[in-house]
Amino acid sequence: MPKNPFACSECHLILPDGIDQCSRCPSAPVSVDWSGYVVVMNPSRSDIANRLNIDKPGSYALKVNIR
Ligand SMILES: [Zn+2]
Repeated sequence: MPKNPFACSECHLILPDGIDQCSRCPSAPVSVDWSGYVVVMNPSRSDIANRLNIDKPGSYALKVNIR
């Protein structure tokens, strides 16, 4: 079974394979314990993007749990 990629706890961005630090929020903790995969194409027109404060297109986790 493939391992979950990391997701940033601050901007919820799902990080590429092998990356364990968000380039936008280097000081934010990342976690493999996340749920809800969402692809945002047009942040300014997306309710979910609005709710998560997403301002750039990409793949995001809805919920990121930090231990
Ligand atoms: Zn981030």
